[in-house]
Amino acid sequence: MSVSYWNDRSGPTPTQADVVIIGGGIAGLSAAYWIGKEDPSMKIVVVEKFEIGAGATGRNAGFVTCGSVEHFNRLVEKHGKEEALQIWQFSEENMRLLKEHIIQDKAQDLLFEHKGSFSLASTDVEFKELQNSDALMKTMSISVETIAESEIKSRLGAEGFVGGIKYVEDGSVHPIKLLEAIRAKLGSNITVCEHHEVHAIEKSGDGKRVRTNKGSIDCSLVVYATNGYSPLLNKFFDDKIFPTRGQILATEAVPRFMEGPCYANFVLDYFRQLPTGEMVIGGFRQLQKDVEKGYSDEASDLIRNALEEFLHKHIPAVRKAKITHRWSGIMGFSVDGQPMVGALPTDDQLFFVGGFTAHGLGLAFHSGKVLADGLFGREIPKFISARRLR
Ligand SMILES: Cc1cc2nc3c(=O)[nH]c(=O)nc-3n(C[C@H](O)[C@H](O)[C@H](O)COP(=O)(O)OP(=O)(O)OC[C@H]3O[C@@H](n4cnc5c(N)ncnc54)[C@H](O)[C@@H]3O)c2cc1C
Repeated sequence: MSVSYWNDRSGPTPTQADVVIIGGGIAGLSAAYWIGKEDPSMKIVVVEKFEIGAGATGRNAGFVTCGSVEHFNRLVEKHGKEEALQIWQFSEENMRLLKEHIIQDKAQDLLFEHKGSFSLASTDVEFKELQNSDALMKTMSISVETIAESEIKSRLGAEGFVGGIKYVEDGSVHPIKLLEAIRAKLGSNITVCEHHEVHAIEKSGDGKRVRTNKGSIDCSLVVYATNGYSPLLNKFFDDKIFPTRGQILATEAVPRFMEGPCYANFVLDYFRQLPTGEMVIGGFRQLQKDVEKGYSDEASDLIRNALEEFLHKHIPAVRKAKITHRWSGIMGFSVDGQPMVGALPTDDQLFFVGGFTAHGLGLAFHSGKVLADGLFGREIPKFISARRLR
């Protein structure tokens, strides 16, 4: 949608900065927070094509979870025990940092709850994997709990699942309120420019020139926090970051019945009840994998129907509730499912923070801190470094 002169409150475009961060989602604002905190004399400009939170950060389900797109047993198979534990602990630290720096005493305002999340199996095969994960995780002192079929009904109000596990340290939040809280903590050295679309990044003297629809900004360093849209700006991302659509529905509020948010079907589908009673249900991109790739955020009928069927089949308390919202958003899946953070192997002045593969709330704030580490010359762990992918 175009923006009229009258509606444009973005103010004049700065012409110079130390760092330009492209993208006003949780990755961009987290990066701005940590870089600005480390060096308050640095001039940082965040440029966002639409408004802050217009991308996936304002369109997700609000799960703040540990780990990644797969059950822990598979993470161990892929990465080995040591790295799988590092990956898990990375998001545990994300939660700790969010609570310490952003959430603080505002949990109620942000609809933040730290009561754990659940992964539910609808087949014995998946339940076996969850039980294996539970056993593995316990040997590594990760807090998990196995949930029997009968408890799923009584604790989560859900039907049609044979068992599950609870990740005790997970939580949930109102994602836009969280983003606003990060924005409110940005130092005075940080300027946020909404309705600024970056068209190109060019070399300029020893630095870079970021060309936007409103004018150019000369700077020393550029950070892409552009999630699934990154390949549109730099070919480096073509075979590393894949735009992937996710769809959600929300219902009117019903009396609270769920102990915590739930994933189902190998982390592909998910549902949660907000502290205010509304139900949010998402997933089913596996039904039309080819269509769910790309940049269009139109909702599809097939997935819309699948979400409704899921609601009717599994969550009796909302069968009669009115569906009030439906939406979709574009996620950035990385080629190996792990985030990519730090300088690109192709250019020391170009940085990236993203590739959260549907788990940005559980990863981005800590990733912003690690990005600042890289920018100030400290080492970035290999499993998360953008340089592991050439
Ligand atoms: C339906 C759905 C459900 C999800 N559920 C969860 C969940 O429950 N828990 C969880 O942890 N994660 C979830 N995710 C994933 C999570 O939302 C993302 O991982 C996270 O928001 C990524 O943050 P980001 O800042 O990298 O990207 P975004 O929030 O997408 O921000 C990128 C920004 O870059 C801007 N931009 C792009 N190109 C340009 C340009 N050329 N110039 C200027 N600006 C540009 C975009 O407008 C956008 O605002 C979900 C995602 C979706 C879509």
